[in-house]
Amino acid sequence: MEVTIIGGGIAGLALAHELAPDHDVTVLEASPGPRGGGYMIDFFGPGFLAAERMGVIEELRSRGHVFEGVRYGTPDGAESGRIDVGPLVAAAGGRYFSILRPEVELGLLSVLPGSVDLRYGARAVAVRDAGLEGAGGPRRALVELADGTRVESDLVVACDGVRSLVRERVSPGHGGIVPMGYRVASYLYQDPELAAELGERMLMTDTVGRVGWAYAAGDGRVGAMFAERVDPADTQRPVPDRQRLQRDFAGLHPQVDRALALAPESFYDDLVAQAIAPRWSRGRVVLAGDAAHAPSLLAGQGTSMAFAGAEALARSLRATGPHVEAGLAEYERRFRPTAEKVQRSGRRSASFFTPSSRAQLAVQQILRRAIALPGVSRLATRSLVAP
Ligand SMILES: Cc1cc2nc3c(=O)[nH]c(=O)nc-3n(C[C@H](O)[C@H](O)[C@H](O)COP(=O)(O)OP(=O)(O)OC[C@H]3O[C@@H](n4cnc5c(N)ncnc54)[C@H](O)[C@@H]3O)c2cc1C
Repeated sequence: MEVTIIGGGIAGLALAHELAPDHDVTVLEASPGPRGGGYMIDFFGPGFLAAERMGVIEELRSRGHVFEGVRYGTPDGAESGRIDVGPLVAAAGGRYFSILRPEVELGLLSVLPGSVDLRYGARAVAVRDAGLEGAGGPRRALVELADGTRVESDLVVACDGVRSLVRERVSPGHGGIVPMGYRVASYLYQDPELAAELGERMLMTDTVGRVGWAYAAGDGRVGAMFAERVDPADTQRPVPDRQRLQRDFAGLHPQVDRALALAPESFYDDLVAQAIAPRWSRGRVVLAGDAAHAPSLLAGQGTSMAFAGAEALARSLRATGPHVEAGLAEYERRFRPTAEKVQRSGRRSASFFTPSSRAQLAVQQILRRAIALPGVSRLATRSLVAP
């Protein structure tokens, strides 16, 4: 059948990879090319297993890295604690590495079958039913692009991220995002000197209200990330403002100050949010990845879930053959419990992502020391990485 995928991010490319052997696949991606910039993600959990089944894990692993762990730093530059990543990797049975988000995209592009029609600069602006009404609803769907082009196909999969254009249509009343009360900015820039100083440990500031991260991102690059608490009622996408960032996050740690001073003009800046969709498909339109079940970065598994969800959708469609609606229902039945579990874990993390008071910071420091103990470390890491 003809399948149109809206969004050539992680879910869209993973799905195209899986569907291409059996179907005519078109991917419509709004950006003019693969999205650069980005942030380091931890790759583990259900998506790791899915990537293994898809045969792409070695490609991704070759682009990833295993850090020694995290080092915590205070505003005077002192080290206030450490967490090693070793127990986490062991608890995950070696199925864990860190990788820059753009490298995930480039890795998927490098193994994408040549038959996939991948169109950059193709922004979808509307999705409608098309074709004849059948027993299960309309049998085709139509995507309208910003340049006036229309693409009609047997199935439209919306992989257009947490701010999906299509979610409202599939799950009315749920088109908006569900903010988690944080705003995050991140970027990569060239700084071989700081990258060498940071070495094999990510630096995280031990501070109240605002937190900064800095890490060596390979090839002399440094990755920086900043998080702050914001009003959870606000859903507007923030406008990146370098001067504001430099002003509001100054003084967290000398190395983070350096990364802040060299911040590029344009960078990622958005609210930390989930997407909640009580149903994932309607007729021949289905949601996947963040568009369906964004868990937010608090769960640390959005990319993993984008892989796992895309693979679950492809598997269900394969199993039900011409009965497409049955395949869509099966995908949701099988994968929703996993997606909801990860979303719950994201919500649980929300209260302690950045400490809101000195007392909360002190509790976190004590917990961190406890986690460093061998027995506790095994238990804590197992609960974190259990698929
Ligand atoms: C700072 C940060 C840190 C994170 N850390 C982690 C982590 O440690 N581990 C982890 O697993 N996850 C992490 N995540 C989450 C992860 O990045 C996302 O969950 C994941 O990228 C979701 O993939 P996706 O393909 O569903 O959506 P996206 O990656 O958002 O891709 C959506 C694509 O759709 C395109 N698009 C949007 N609208 C349209 C349109 N109308 N027409 C055509 N194309 C369109 C976009 O350009 C984009 O390419 C983090 C996220 C952030 C922001």
